[in-house]
Amino acid sequence: AHSAHTIVIVGAGQAGGWAAQTLRSEGFVGRVVLVGDEAHPPHERPPLSKAVLSGAAAPESTRLMKPEAFDALAVQWRPGVQVRRIDRAAKQVLLSDGTAQPYDKLILCTGGRARRLAVPGADQVPLHTLRTIEDAQALAPALRPGRSVVVVGGGWIGLEVAATARQQGAEVVVVETQSRLCERTVPAEVSAYLLALHRAQGVRVLLGAGVRGFARAADGADGADSRLEVLLADGSALACDTIVLGVGLVPNDELARAAGLACEGGVLVDAQCRTSDPDILAAGDVAVAPNPWAGRSLRLESWQNAQEQGMAAARSALGQAVDYQPLPWFWSDQYGMNLQIYGMPTPAHRVVQRGDPASGSFVLFYLAGDVVQAAVGANAARDLRFARRLIEQRKTVDAERLADLNTPMAKL
Ligand code: FAD
Repeated sequence: AHSAHTIVIVGAGQAGGWAAQTLRSEGFVGRVVLVGDEAHPPHERPPLSKAVLSGAAAPESTRLMKPEAFDALAVQWRPGVQVRRIDRAAKQVLLSDGTAQPYDKLILCTGGRARRLAVPGADQVPLHTLRTIEDAQALAPALRPGRSVVVVGGGWIGLEVAATARQQGAEVVVVETQSRLCERTVPAEVSAYLLALHRAQGVRVLLGAGVRGFARAADGADGADSRLEVLLADGSALACDTIVLGVGLVPNDELARAAGLACEGGVLVDAQCRTSDPDILAAGDVAVAPNPWAGRSLRLESWQNAQEQGMAAARSALGQAVDYQPLPWFWSDQYGMNLQIYGMPTPAHRVVQRGDPASGSFVLFYLAGDVVQAAVGANAARDLRFARRLIEQRKTVDAERLADLNTPMAKL
């Protein structure tokens, strides 16, 4: 019966690519249409602030699949085409090329776009953001010795850009409004570790520093070499050659909202990835899903979620029983340091430390009672794999042994 069906995927990013691949690996023989407004086939974004930005890896290396494997999926890929509207009554989407594409099931994988700042001068000076391959290619030449970069925003993208810029020899200042780095996603002790890491690498980090606006420096000549200024709330100004905004993501949920689907800072879905219209599913950065580890619904902006929720949405679209409740996992690479986070650490947890941050490798466990709920580690991938199992199995642990480097994690 399925062969007569058409499943349309909106957005050919990481979640959309995995959804397409999963439809085929689950045996779907109907029509798969993958509509993506980018020119590129489905690819992963993490290297765009790391190896692709530094030039160590080519943009093509980020592709989800080899061209042959992508061809073998026999999806109708529509690069450079945007979905403009969802007509739920007629069950079709209207495309930027003027055509209409009918669907039986629709999967929204539209991701998000870099947030801009609405401050004076923001539309008068060149401001970089980092979401796409083109963004990385535009920024890369500015990261070199003798050049100065101000990164606005001390979250993950901001810090990774700062690290790559520094490693390329540029002078770097990070400006963060909050009183600590990555305030939204990690507890204070992890923020302190990241701050020390960046300062040790010669990055100037300004905390509690609001941005009032942007300007061209008075003495700057026009053209590529003109100096720019970041105007801070305290009245001071930072002169630099390049400004990068890393101030968060705006979910691309406009299509869904215009179609009357329930949205709240993203497209609301259930554990089966279904929106408020059972024939429309959503996955990836755009989806707001219930998460038992967080105790609420939230968007997960992560590689893991883009892949696993994209796969789950595809299986759900095929009528399979799906119960997507992932233990959140996120990583970041900065200066060769690998940081990983499992679960959702909060200030309410009891913190147990294993290893000394000064040694370069450590894990922080976040406990409720004697049960590990979350873990954050630097250069400790092996211990973190065990930590993940402890969290998922909700096992009680002895905090003293957890903190003891002489007790192998495998024993816990
Ligand atoms: P996307 O990959 O953004 O794909 C959405 C696609 O939909 C885009 O191509 C968009 O153009 C297209 N689209 C939108 N609207 C329409 C429309 N109407 N019609 C057609 N097409 C449309 N995560 C980690 O866990 N670890 C990391 O180290 C890490 N590093 C990152 C570094 C960078 C620079 C960035 C940007 C992200 C990073 N992430 C990282 C996050 C991770 O890459 C994202 O969570 C993931 O890409 C989300 O996938 P997605 O498919 O939901 O969205």
